[in-house]
Amino acid sequence: MSKSKTPVIGISADTNEGKEGDLKEYGTDTVFWLKKHYITAIEKSGGIPVILPVVKSPKAMAGYLDLIDGLLLSGGYFDISPKLYGEKAMPQCGALKPDRTLMEIALFKKARKLKMPILGICGGLQAINVGLGGTLYQHIPAQVEDALPHEQKPLPSTKPSHYVSLAENSELRKIAGRTKIKVNSTHHQGIKDLGRGLAACATASDGIVEGVELKKKDGAFMVGVQWHPEALFKNSSFSQKLFRHFIAEAKKQKFKLYSKL
Ligand code: MN
Repeated sequence: MSKSKTPVIGISADTNEGKEGDLKEYGTDTVFWLKKHYITAIEKSGGIPVILPVVKSPKAMAGYLDLIDGLLLSGGYFDISPKLYGEKAMPQCGALKPDRTLMEIALFKKARKLKMPILGICGGLQAINVGLGGTLYQHIPAQVEDALPHEQKPLPSTKPSHYVSLAENSELRKIAGRTKIKVNSTHHQGIKDLGRGLAACATASDGIVEGVELKKKDGAFMVGVQWHPEALFKNSSFSQKLFRHFIAEAKKQKFKLYSKL
């Protein structure tokens, strides 16, 4: 928990983990980065964004949780190692960033124990699912018949491309106040089997699960979405409501903890 009255939201950074690739000019130096969309969405929704670079020690991870009031597991240019859900990598499986993934799963588990509000976005949702024992499609076009084009390129991620239906009684449906919303889609992987305790709360017309929350609510906000609400933020009232709700939950939880001190 932070000392600030305004909730501080920790956002996991993307990284090249020392491999040349995403940011070629850095060569094999390890760098950490994050798209500005995340920062803007948190700031405009009344939170203070901080970027969490990849660390390995449990002490450093616990230290992160002492500094923040909400955890945002971000997306990025990576796939989650299929080894973590008991599969061999298919040829279409993309770049792995094992240190990043291990930190995100560990942070997620620690944050859940603290009942800290958590929002998982894209790869963040996948990390939550795998962290809870779920599995992924390694490459939707090769594994799901008649799948929608979930990689919407060349359409930019600031524009929505397919609908998702929101489950009855789900938190997402309550926040949206609608049964269906149009979302962007920049993923080639997706949830296959749900992790323990997770319920599907958003589903695309081809059956791909695009949103998860806890089956049994325990008073802590925990939502994962396969799309990128931060990229849609400027023109999407639903994305704005989702971020505002997340920040409000972080504030609520913070004052609950304060009152116990
Ligand atoms: Mn999609």
